[in-house]
Amino acid sequence: MGEGRRDTGRGRISGVTDAERQAALEAIAAEVRDCTRCRLHETRTKAVPGEGDPQTEVVFVGEGPGFNEDQQGRPFVGRAGELLVRLLGSIGWRRDQVFITNIVKCRPPENRDPEPDEIAACAPYLRRQLEALDPAVIVTLGRHSMARFMPGARISQAHGTARPADPATGAEKALVFAMYHPAAALRTPAIERESYDDIASIPAVLLDARERRTAQKPQDSSLDEAASTAIRNVHVVSAQADDAHHSPVSSLAPDGTPADTDQLTLF
Ligand code: URA
Ligand code: SF4
Repeated sequence: MGEGRRDTGRGRISGVTDAERQAALEAIAAEVRDCTRCRLHETRTKAVPGEGDPQTEVVFVGEGPGFNEDQQGRPFVGRAGELLVRLLGSIGWRRDQVFITNIVKCRPPENRDPEPDEIAACAPYLRRQLEALDPAVIVTLGRHSMARFMPGARISQAHGTARPADPATGAEKALVFAMYHPAAALRTPAIERESYDDIASIPAVLLDARERRTAQKPQDSSLDEAASTAIRNVHVVSAQADDAHHSPVSSLAPDGTPADTDQLTLF
């Protein structure tokens, strides 16, 4: 992974360094591990803050930890997690290239649905995670997660579709994409098939989100623009210096920004 500020052509404008993003996420995770803001802390084994690549463009949001997650303190490590990994693999992505978290960070007893007051108590953690990550795309897994980002939507209609995120969720310029929960897909083969169809759309949604973010760059971002241009030039120059026969064009993504091997592949 690169260090410090870099531009991956994804329209980030905040000038936040990778180290600052990581530190913010770690601070939130530390608070979550000690949190007693709702009754779920009384029955949890370990809180599950979430995990992934701090530089990612894509955040997956599930409902809440289950048995295995509560034991390990990590999201989506049980059977639903195995399916999520297979779904990601079908578009060539690995779980460590995205960020995975939940609406509530502690396991509801007997895996019951989280209650509205528990969801409300936990909401500031997810909002702060999204502010730190500044994702281009949020993928909701299941009804509870969808309800937060697409109020009023019905999952049977909304799955496989994207819409702009409400900035109040902490994701200022993201698209939200709804999917069924992997646990529902494990129970119902038709839902599993639909989940593979749905996830296949995410690369196109990411492209769309990147375009929207670039188009929305505010006027006062000249300093960020200058920094990105400088970084872009360094990339191109070093590509030429490394290999004189290697066309610098091949180090550019189709939109003209430097290709980055760490970046999520779109196709
Ligand atoms: N189901 C969820 O919603 N989240 C997890 O982390 C695991 C299972
Ligand atoms: Fe705190 Fe959220 Fe856990 Fe409730 S579910 S105790 S608000 S971290």
